[in-house]
Amino acid sequence: MSLPESKTIAAVATPPGYGGIGVIRLSGAESLALTRRLLTRGEDLSFVPQQAALYHLINPETGLSIDEAVITYFRAPNSFTGEDVVEISCHGSPVVLAEVLRHLTSFGAGLAQPGEFSLRAFLNRRIDLSQAEAIKDLIHAETTAQARIAARQLRGELSGQLAPIKASLVDLIVHFESTVEFVEDDLDPLDLKRFIARLDQAIDAITRLTSSYQVGRLIRAGVRVALVGRPNVGKSSVFNGLLGRDRAIVTPVPGTTRDTLSESFVVEGVPVDLVDTAGIRETTDLVERIGVERTHTAISEADLVMAVVDASAPLTGEEIDLLDRCGAKLYLLNKSDLAPEIPHETLEELARKGPLLRISALTGQGFDDLKQWIFDQITFGGPTQIEGAIITNVRHYTALEEALTALRQARQDLVSGFTEEVALANLHQALGSLGIITGETLMSDIINQIFSTFCIGK
Ligand code: GDP
Repeated sequence: MSLPESKTIAAVATPPGYGGIGVIRLSGAESLALTRRLLTRGEDLSFVPQQAALYHLINPETGLSIDEAVITYFRAPNSFTGEDVVEISCHGSPVVLAEVLRHLTSFGAGLAQPGEFSLRAFLNRRIDLSQAEAIKDLIHAETTAQARIAARQLRGELSGQLAPIKASLVDLIVHFESTVEFVEDDLDPLDLKRFIARLDQAIDAITRLTSSYQVGRLIRAGVRVALVGRPNVGKSSVFNGLLGRDRAIVTPVPGTTRDTLSESFVVEGVPVDLVDTAGIRETTDLVERIGVERTHTAISEADLVMAVVDASAPLTGEEIDLLDRCGAKLYLLNKSDLAPEIPHETLEELARKGPLLRISALTGQGFDDLKQWIFDQITFGGPTQIEGAIITNVRHYTALEEALTALRQARQDLVSGFTEEVALANLHQALGSLGIITGETLMSDIINQIFSTFCIGK
């Protein structure tokens, strides 16, 4: 990680393509000077910070007009990067933007690397690392739940929750360091109790964060749900019903879904990857077939397997066993709009394997309950509006887990009567792990790796 170079950088900050507006962003001490070289001398070039004004962009070589642009100047340190920043809002034409950028680089601006604006913001301490990551998450959010969590993290929620934990650990470390240096006696038992209580508080607070990852991971990555069942029970119809559109081919001829099909939909903010599998055909040779077919892969990769049975046709014990062997967690009694054919005892047998839900892909009956069930399963029935920060990032989760291990060890050391010196090493370790999240303790190559995944202009 190098300190921010003094070189002024420029990039198109809006996505490629045509649009009403296209923005070029500059950051660095020369931002304003370079921008002025694109403007006519006759104009008032005084630039009031934070105030947008209209200018004419002129090709400096030909003197011909390039575009009209609204330009905003953000004076250091009150800018996104902490440096002087200029945003030039032209019309969203790739040709215009390319021309403006070309002139700026010919004047000496460097082309910004992906994530370089955010990297500078981080290095200038405008944002911490978790906030920088939140910018990327927010830009790439595919569901409103993902965007909401990213926005909260961007506001500093996670850093805010870590701050008191870190402060408390620093306190303990300072105390122990001085004890180690100046006092030969053992810890006062009362002090020891207080220290352990402190550690417990930190352990609890971090545990709350790590347990939010269960939901956070799902909101970020979503879940895979596979539909299994005999041909013609209506798997494709259920698949389409859940997606809300006709994606899979539905025919009365058994075996139309020969391959696995996969599509995504969103249940209350959680992305669900739904997989329609090829029908499980012959009960007897299923075990062999399953070994070679993609159905097997789909089932093994799924977080959740739902079995579809045709409620208007007989159901054999073998079929139930098969569905059970596929790991089905829910049994959908499809075609419930038709006369029921499954005897009561068979239904009871099925119910022993897992919950039953009567649905009809034809009428839509039971689909609200089905979505709710999927949602409850993936959120473990728990609330999704967890108070406080939700951990969605595996990097953060790993760092928190490391901090927990170290803190538990430190606690253990104190309880077992080891010297403070022994506990100290683990306290340092825990503090270091927490610092990884916000970027205080990080190797430069990791930081570079994180920012290189950003898009250009961010
Ligand atoms: P798959 O082979 O399991 O994927 O089954 P399909 O979705 O292709 O459906 C097989 C047949 O059952 C088609 O003719 C569908 O129209 C019909 N079907 C599917 N779901 C229902 C339902 O809920 N009610 C009724 N009456 N027919 C259905």
